[in-house]
Amino acid sequence: MSEAGDDRARWAELFNIAPPPDQAEQESRRRGLFSRFKESLTRPRQAISPQLAGVFAPGLITRDTWDELEEALIAADCGVDAALALVDELREEAQQGRIVNRSEIAAGLAAAVTHQMAPEPPTIPLGGAPTVILVVGVNGSGKTTTVGKLAHRLSDLGQQVVIGAADTFRAAAIDQLAIWADRSGAQLVRQGPGADPGAVAFDAVAAGTARGADVVLIDTAGRLQTQHNLMEELRKVHAVVGKANPAAPHETLLVLDATTGQNGLSQARLFGDAVPLTGVIVTKLDGSAKGGIAVAINRELGIPVKLIGVGEKLEDLQPFDAAVYAQAIFDVGDGA
Ligand code: GDP
Repeated sequence: MSEAGDDRARWAELFNIAPPPDQAEQESRRRGLFSRFKESLTRPRQAISPQLAGVFAPGLITRDTWDELEEALIAADCGVDAALALVDELREEAQQGRIVNRSEIAAGLAAAVTHQMAPEPPTIPLGGAPTVILVVGVNGSGKTTTVGKLAHRLSDLGQQVVIGAADTFRAAAIDQLAIWADRSGAQLVRQGPGADPGAVAFDAVAAGTARGADVVLIDTAGRLQTQHNLMEELRKVHAVVGKANPAAPHETLLVLDATTGQNGLSQARLFGDAVPLTGVIVTKLDGSAKGGIAVAINRELGIPVKLIGVGEKLEDLQPFDAAVYAQAIFDVGDGA
């Protein structure tokens, strides 16, 4: 299949519009995605490669090998818990005789990351008549462009989309969404800058319901005078959406900038305390020297990573595939 065809198939699978592919098809899609991601993720891979190169160098596995691996994973921002769990899994593999030489650890690590993060690709199932997706996160994380890209992908799959521009504090965000809506044929529900975000969110869900839309995407504010105000505002928006449709929001996705590293984790906790999160979108992995942050998010917050961003272009936002991610970031055996 062509690259565009593979992309489309991957998104259809994410939204449960198409059934999962058979193994051969999945492998072929993974290879295509990997060759694209490999280049975009050069920076995080190169940041970790000096440490991993020592671990993966041919030779016998010793106790030091595991210590070095653990240190490398922590340095890459995987978090202590996840680093320990990964090393434990690999050590067990070695004890069982499935990993004998250090050079086999690279492939083993990619498999362990996949196993621990998401053996099955995550989904954002549609069918909510409409499915309401709330997108939250701090300013600059990539929220608005993510909403635009999602609208584009959904429209491409024949879904009717309504976008609610509930970040009413930033006129630029509303204008940006108007452009995406125009391009993708989505309907934009907006009010003037400074309008009540809850009212915009409510109107968007009501409009989506009245028009029989498939999906309502709601962009939210990422900065207010204080963090307390922001979290209160998000709680309100979340509650108001529930008034418009008791089953909504079906998804509340947190957009996190990978370059913020461990700060991103504290941010995620704050947002998670304010509203129940169903998934994380990790953006800007291409610019991060700490590519392991997606592992830490998954492990420490228990929230699945559903999408990742490896650049600014439309095709740089992709459904998360743990196997491809792990291989692109950690499998530095072939010269990075
Ligand atoms: P918002 O303030 O959270 O709504 O953020 P925006 O959607 O306006 O995005 C901020 C900037 O980040 C824009 O220039 C985006 O193009 C850029 N951006 C978003 N995702 C990625 C990514 O995965 N990689 C890179 N390099 N840039 C990204």
